[in-house]
Amino acid sequence: MAFLTGLAIDSRRLRIGSSRCEPRRRVAVHAKVMQALIFDCDGVLADTERDAHRVAFNLAFEENELNTVWSESRYGKLLEVGGGKERMTAHFNEVGWPEGYTTEESQQELVKKLHLRKTELFGKLISEGKIPLRPGVQSLADSASKKGLPIAVCSTSNEKAVAQIVTMMGPELASSIAIFAGDIVPKKKPSPDIYNLATEKLNLDPAATVVIEDSYIGLQAAKDAGMNCVVTKSTYTLDEDFARADRVVDDLDSGAVTLESLEALVSNE
Ligand SMILES: [Mg+2]
Repeated sequence: MAFLTGLAIDSRRLRIGSSRCEPRRRVAVHAKVMQALIFDCDGVLADTERDAHRVAFNLAFEENELNTVWSESRYGKLLEVGGGKERMTAHFNEVGWPEGYTTEESQQELVKKLHLRKTELFGKLISEGKIPLRPGVQSLADSASKKGLPIAVCSTSNEKAVAQIVTMMGPELASSIAIFAGDIVPKKKPSPDIYNLATEKLNLDPAATVVIEDSYIGLQAAKDAGMNCVVTKSTYTLDEDFARADRVVDDLDSGAVTLESLEALVSNE
């Protein structure tokens, strides 16, 4: 059939320039078949800023009897400051330092101590599986796995934490997921480096790959790597610019992001 169609196209082409001028019929090209499903980690698999980092800061404050609790909205504001130690410094500079911490040296010592403990507590929360997966993540990954579709997680966050969050999807599924994380590429997102690495290592056609991201910078990374990208908004990315996204949803579950819908996204490109 394809051979006959080819002949028909050729004969039509041969007539170009002759007196019989026919419009070229649109020829169906191969629809792309989805080759892989790639998740970002923070904000996509779990709402880690809200449910892990913020919680760990609060536990460290409580252990040190600082009478400080960061609400979801307060933490959202503090996220404008990059880095945990800098974030705490900005907070105490604004609301006042705890009693007894009057010199800059003592303040920086306190922040250092709190940050070390916060990092330990964060690791503990993750390793104990106490961070909930976001809605729809498990079922989407399960459907992809059942179909034998390669799954990967691409994140420029700490590799150990990413691996532990992936494990929350179940040990069997987790063992089949390729993880690209940490400092394995020179530039973090929004550079497309991490997605280009996955493309190369998994031998993918980026246009046949779907990435799930939650942030503006992640979206830029995926699109600049030539991939399709569905954005699942997270607590602290609600108001970001997602104009380049192929789809934007509040979460994978309520947005009905099924494997079939992603396959359709790829084949309709
Ligand atoms: Mg993210």
